[in-house]
Amino acid sequence: MELKYVQTTCPYCGTGCSFNLVVKDGKVAGVQPYQRSPVNEGRVCPKGTYAHEFVNREDRLTKPLIKKNGTFEEATWDEAYDLIAEKFKSYKPDECAVLSSARTSNEENYALMKFARGALKTRHIDHCARLCHASTVAGLAASFGSGAMTNSIGDIAESKCLFILGSNTFEQHPLIGRRVAQAKKAGAKIIYADPRYTATGKQADLYMQFVSGSDVAILNGLMQEIIKNGWEDTEFLKNRVKGYEELKATVMKEDYSLENVSKISGIPVEQLKTAAEWIGTAESAAILYSMGITQHTVGVDNVKSIANLQMLTGNLGRPGTGVNALRGQNNVQGACDMGALPVVFTGYQKVIDEAAHKKFADAWGFPDGISEPKNGYEVTVMMDVLTDNPGELKCMYIMGENPMLSDPDLTHVEHAIKNLEFLVVQDIFMTETAELADVVLPAACYAEKDGTQTSTERRVQMWRKAQDPPGEAKDDWKIIAEIAAKMGYADQFAWETAEDIFNEIAAVTPSYHGMNYERLNRPEALHWPCPAEDHPGTPILHGAKFAHPDGFGVMHAIDWKPPAEVPDAEYPYVFTTGRILFHWHTGTMTRRSATLDNEVPTGWIEINPEDAKDLGIKDGETVKASSRRGSIIVPARVTKDIMKGVMFMPFHFKECAANILTNNALDPIAKIPEFKACAVKVEKI
Ligand code: SF4
Repeated sequence: MELKYVQTTCPYCGTGCSFNLVVKDGKVAGVQPYQRSPVNEGRVCPKGTYAHEFVNREDRLTKPLIKKNGTFEEATWDEAYDLIAEKFKSYKPDECAVLSSARTSNEENYALMKFARGALKTRHIDHCARLCHASTVAGLAASFGSGAMTNSIGDIAESKCLFILGSNTFEQHPLIGRRVAQAKKAGAKIIYADPRYTATGKQADLYMQFVSGSDVAILNGLMQEIIKNGWEDTEFLKNRVKGYEELKATVMKEDYSLENVSKISGIPVEQLKTAAEWIGTAESAAILYSMGITQHTVGVDNVKSIANLQMLTGNLGRPGTGVNALRGQNNVQGACDMGALPVVFTGYQKVIDEAAHKKFADAWGFPDGISEPKNGYEVTVMMDVLTDNPGELKCMYIMGENPMLSDPDLTHVEHAIKNLEFLVVQDIFMTETAELADVVLPAACYAEKDGTQTSTERRVQMWRKAQDPPGEAKDDWKIIAEIAAKMGYADQFAWETAEDIFNEIAAVTPSYHGMNYERLNRPEALHWPCPAEDHPGTPILHGAKFAHPDGFGVMHAIDWKPPAEVPDAEYPYVFTTGRILFHWHTGTMTRRSATLDNEVPTGWIEINPEDAKDLGIKDGETVKASSRRGSIIVPARVTKDIMKGVMFMPFHFKECAANILTNNALDPIAKIPEFKACAVKVEKI
């Protein structure tokens, strides 16, 4: 038997753990620790431990499929390419939309971004960051001039006070949770605020349970208490930030007295006082947050409020401090960095900026130009346009995304996708979205290709090929390049390796300028910004100055607003969704991992015992949960872990799809949907 070990990066969460894939006779057969990773130091969570199990499943896509008379038929690559090229060329540029993927590499996101803007010439490209951290990108860019996690994962262990808000870190980013545990062991205070008492709550010194959607009120109340007690960092406020007086005028209002905040949030006043004191007096305090903060119609406000608190207390730019936005998918940071967004090229160079537009047009050399220098549609807006203005968008190319399970209000999404004239889906399995496609293209998975990914801490790391893809499946970037060649753009996509693409990325992206595969082929890899080949990378942002042109941070005075849909007599409960330790997003990979699926084979709805008693529901009984958008049948889990008046569901399970219930009301800036708060009713059946 031939045995080898190939070091690579976990395909699941944004932590970016490294491990070795065990390859037996040319096939991936296991995962083993890789001790030299500074991220996870040889450890992996359950998802990482079984990240080999889906790779060689028999139901992997292995040949291109073309739908004829409602049924998929196997086709050759040439047949599929000819059909796609002919169709794409028949549409006007802005009739086409593209969804890129946080499950694919930086190189593949770059290739698809270039394909969208250069070959299709459309402005409409986006990806699932719209559903998870679009509010982080917009909110932190407005506050600090850079929309990314400020500190590194290892740095979390240095903190003296960790405030975890809207992130179940120990389940969703377990190897970041380990850093929280290290900080606690070294004496740090851990504050956890969340509507659910989770594995993370069990590690906290102070747990504050609150009504989903009251974040700004809580943060303003904490800031009022800090200012009242003189715990603000006056030097930092004087020398590093703008907007303090306006912020102070807002947070000192009676609306944000701890008594009023307690009424809005449900958190007892004494707990709020303790949290303010711990944050305000700590030598270093860091905030960790995730989608509990971002997935709201006030997602950008929530993020700016977090930034306000950290600027108020001077907890930025030093070890153990920072605003640590924990990104969801393995490469959601990288997909954003690569410009798979409707408003930027790589490195957040704005498409409406004339100089940036010219720079990319010149660098790419498309003889017939590139997409207009105008912002395009976000994925959530694309779905609305498809239903509200049929005919404006006509075709879509989706790489590695599954909106038919991941997006809010699935009935609306299905209606939208069915309004497309032509849909191409490129993936590793037949997903719920691929089933609606006209053409399905088989792609290689993470274990079958070289490339890079950028983790939540801005660390750019390698994926390495461990086995060949099954059947005729190919690297995503190769498929894109071959379609582009069929459309007459072979010269613009003449890459031979993923490394060729990375070198092109580095050439056009200032924050990646100093990176190359040789430098990344080290266990520690590199954090961006890394502007030159002799630059060591930047694990901590905003040390001497912020990323705004004048170097100042900007405070924003923000008032609390309730969610778009609040409980009423007909739908009396707040509904919120999230993830669990054993599954990943729409379950495309984890539900095909026998061990993980065996651990948690289906979904449930969490109901507080008092609500369950009112409704006459017992633990384990099947119930009907309904919102204004639809109903699902789901088992009830009666637990004190969820607060009274709130219901929770994981969103991984197609047989009880939580997103049938969720609301597609959007944050006005980030266009992120309000997954974390809508109104439902639950009935015994
Ligand atoms: Fe993979 Fe995240 Fe688990 Fe690390 S913590 S092994 S990156 S799922």
